[in-house]
Amino acid sequence: MDKQNWKFATRAVQSGYDPGNGDPRIVPITQSTTFKYDDAQSVADLFDLKRPGFFYTRLANPTVDAFEKKIAALEGGVAAVALCAGQTANAFALMNIARCGDHILAASSLYGGTVSLFTNTLRKNGIEVTLIPPDVSEAELQAAVRPETKAIFVETLANPALIVADLELFAKVAHANGIPLVADNTFPTPALCNPFDFGADIVTHSTSKYIDGHATSVGGIVVEKGGFDWTGGKFPEFTEPDASYHGLIYTRDFSTAPFSVKLRVQLVRDYGVPMMPFNAFLSMIGCETLHLRMERHSANALRLAEFLKNHPKVGWVKYPGLPGDDQYAAAQKYLRGASGVLCFGVKGGAEAGEKVMNSLQMAAIVVHVADVRTGVLHPASMTHRQLSESELEAAGVSPDLIRVSVGIEDADDIIADFAQALDRV
Ligand SMILES: *Cc1c(COP(=O)(O)O)cnc(C)c1O
Repeated sequence: MDKQNWKFATRAVQSGYDPGNGDPRIVPITQSTTFKYDDAQSVADLFDLKRPGFFYTRLANPTVDAFEKKIAALEGGVAAVALCAGQTANAFALMNIARCGDHILAASSLYGGTVSLFTNTLRKNGIEVTLIPPDVSEAELQAAVRPETKAIFVETLANPALIVADLELFAKVAHANGIPLVADNTFPTPALCNPFDFGADIVTHSTSKYIDGHATSVGGIVVEKGGFDWTGGKFPEFTEPDASYHGLIYTRDFSTAPFSVKLRVQLVRDYGVPMMPFNAFLSMIGCETLHLRMERHSANALRLAEFLKNHPKVGWVKYPGLPGDDQYAAAQKYLRGASGVLCFGVKGGAEAGEKVMNSLQMAAIVVHVADVRTGVLHPASMTHRQLSESELEAAGVSPDLIRVSVGIEDADDIIADFAQALDRV
């Protein structure tokens, strides 16, 4: 049977761990910092990256390795590197490409933590990020590219602006300039969108969200499509000898997945932020139902969006799966379901909205999104609190915006909860 041709649901269930005769059926949690060897040369070879294997869990671990293989299979990439958080995934995806003095272009409709990362921490470390409007034209995007621009970054479905990135346009301009497109695919997951099919070269995820799906484990992952040409002269760290590895050259010595090998052996080795085995185990189990959950999240969110749209006390609703939404056409093109997050505003503004949030009985106020339970959050006072007013506007966050993470409970019960809460204002 050709595993390469397995359909998505089969890969979600089966890929990543392939037990041999008599092995545990479920991937074991290898809760061990280190691995035993009989001779010193074996370990020296591992340190020199002359053969694959495990020697220290900061760099690689069998449980984490299985999870990485599953996500690589789901996204259709050649390799993946799992990290301790989604924040680390985005930071490392860019730090692996750009260094001090370099520049990155990013669509401004972003998760609040990503805005802080881009405008504070990366900038302090000498990587400048310019935020551009998500509906930028091809000519405007091209005009924003500088000689030192090393990547373009977008969220495929922005958190919480729910803008669908025009991946083909961003990829076209990136490739015309010999630079990669990095796409944060956290909200759609590979169940609903495959950024690699639309030209992305690197995909990142906060696996804390739908991939785990049960709100048990903070984690992140970076996936490499493979085949990007790093040899054009803009990326000397890929093509010139690495002094920290006896002169290894990533594009020559690891031609299949040079990006992933470099990310692991430089950034994960030096900063020490791998995913932990227990989190990889839980996230791997989560993946086994990803296709089913995303279908139900999308169906329930559409039901709730339709209910809110017709409610006299609701001022506005934003859900890319709702006919009439300004992102509807883009969602039809890029997504196979609009995922489980919607936003709305109550007539009467932030104050009335707060009352609705406080009146919900089943849906909880949580600083989280994308797990099986319905939850709500007020980004302007919570996840996006550190942003300035202009940054809030650029990120698509109005003061009255309530973000709903629609769970996989029965849609009738979710709607009933919002109906009774709206009755109280
Ligand atoms: C949550 C989130 C992140 C950050 O991930 P953590 O796992 O919380 O570090 C990054 N990007 C998006 C789109 C997110 O929703």
